[in-house]
Amino acid sequence: VERVFRWGKQVLFQCKTRCAAEEHTQRFLAVHLRMTGRLLIGAHDTSPKHLRARLVLDEGAVLFVDTRRFGTLEVYENLEQASPAGVDPTTADFTIERLTALLKRGRSEQPLKPWLLRQDRLVGLGNIYASEICFIARLDPRRAASGLNADEIRRLHGATCEVLSAAIDACGTTFSDFQDAHGVTGSYQQFLSVYGRNGLPCRSCDRSIDKIIQAQRSTFFCSHCQR
Ligand SMILES: [Zn+2]
Repeated sequence: VERVFRWGKQVLFQCKTRCAAEEHTQRFLAVHLRMTGRLLIGAHDTSPKHLRARLVLDEGAVLFVDTRRFGTLEVYENLEQASPAGVDPTTADFTIERLTALLKRGRSEQPLKPWLLRQDRLVGLGNIYASEICFIARLDPRRAASGLNADEIRRLHGATCEVLSAAIDACGTTFSDFQDAHGVTGSYQQFLSVYGRNGLPCRSCDRSIDKIIQAQRSTFFCSHCQR
């Protein structure tokens, strides 16, 4: 294993094969955790509950544990095969200009919040953070994505960077399952403004947070603060 890094929503293990006769000496093992998957570092013989795969290292092992079995492991021969089509909002490629171009392209009528979940535009955003980003940007999640003006796009860009960096600093959001490789749970759930807070007072205006369904996923927002 030469390098381990995040690639969109996947964790990639960049590996070099030991067989010199092989055409491709490099492989990428892509792990997608999905809902309940986690990677843990343990001893060779550790067998936690719901263990699905064990990657044996020279010392110890990486354990893939997944209660609900939605997680996946795939092997790619090059990085291009593993590449998501969209822009990673945590990289320098994510500029206001790039976001503007993405918003103006494609289906104009798609509402903003489902638009944020499309991995061929922005990579890595999940359902929790999409609702949070719309709230911080003060944008109604039902608005047509392509209808945002320059100031609104600037707010959306800023909110995306702000929410993701704060969530990464807090080691993610843990409701029940997420743990990092050392078994540490996330703590961003205590900072959530709207997600899961339907019926509770908005942290900004005290009015009740609404919950709606968009593209089969729950969306939480404040109809007073988000226009
Ligand atoms: Zn409000």
